[in-house]
Amino acid sequence: LTRDLSQFKNPELAKGLIDSIQALAPESCALMEVCGTHTVSIARAGIRAIMPEGTRLLSGPGCPVCVTANRDIDTVIALCRIPDVTITTFGDMTRVPGSTSSLLAEKAAGRSVEIVYSPLDALRYAQEHPERQVIFVGVGFETTTPLIAMAIRRAKQMGLTNFTVFVAHKNMPGALEAIVSDPSLQVDALILPGHVSTITGMAPYQFLAERYGIPGVITGFEPVDVLQGIAMLMRQLHEGRAEIEIAYTRGVRAEGNPVALAAIDEVFETCTATWRGLGPIPGSGYHIRPEFAEFDAVERFHPEVEPTIEPRGCRCGDVLRGAITPKACPHFNRSCTPENPVGPCMVSSEGSCAAYYRYYR
Ligand code: SF4
Repeated sequence: LTRDLSQFKNPELAKGLIDSIQALAPESCALMEVCGTHTVSIARAGIRAIMPEGTRLLSGPGCPVCVTANRDIDTVIALCRIPDVTITTFGDMTRVPGSTSSLLAEKAAGRSVEIVYSPLDALRYAQEHPERQVIFVGVGFETTTPLIAMAIRRAKQMGLTNFTVFVAHKNMPGALEAIVSDPSLQVDALILPGHVSTITGMAPYQFLAERYGIPGVITGFEPVDVLQGIAMLMRQLHEGRAEIEIAYTRGVRAEGNPVALAAIDEVFETCTATWRGLGPIPGSGYHIRPEFAEFDAVERFHPEVEPTIEPRGCRCGDVLRGAITPKACPHFNRSCTPENPVGPCMVSSEGSCAAYYRYYR
């Protein structure tokens, strides 16, 4: 197995793919990596530096913490100030600044905030602490949404009355459509997310090729995976084709994972979600269905949310649309660093600003 896995970092394979990319690349093109994990893989492996002259790799809206709107962060902070509430969430979320505070600052001020690694950990915490109202903060795309659905279903089966979820989950197609249809942005092809596509399959991306003529390749996260995805995109651009293809065949089936999709559909319905940088996008978010409304934290607690103030001068919105690279933000590596983040793109391990800070300063 170790030998097989090492092939995904094999320099000979990588060199062959780099040669293909060089041979097939058009004079000028912009490829967007949609997923935050790809952003980090590309930066860590130095892939940006070996692209042909005229090829730009842009980062897109695929970091779930980064695209969570300030209003949602403020709502979670308001929830955490309610007596007897414990917020459970992933570590990155605790450091994201809201309008005037963050979960980490609230914890330092004595509020109850626990870091967990999955919604099922949060469910266990609720079982073990019946005296607390435990709220799980759900952010992410289809890779985590089925797990939240399972946690809510299980809570209902167990009759748990002290577990709810703040849902800020999103799906990708609407955000991609907002980007490819924006005439001020140039995106010629898309490096599509591997993990999300294990759940969704390729159907949600077909409109990109059919309606907008934009090729897309679903690929994995090792250096050879990413290079293979880029080489396949370059071949499509070279041949004038626009199709959705799968390079990550060891993880993704065309139809996705029907069991996980059914779990999402049972518990959630789609709704308009507000994305940082992209604004409200119809159908791009998830809302808990009325049959499970007792597990909706906002429905149960009706938090009083303070007026939203966007971080001054932060260009996260433009970074997430691929309109600028992080270095074009005046705060980058000056007033904004991972130790003192101004916006979420510097907080999240998958954020573009954090990746640029770590690899391209
Ligand atoms: Fe926002 Fe900081 Fe990134 Fe600038 S460098 S866009 S302030 S997160």
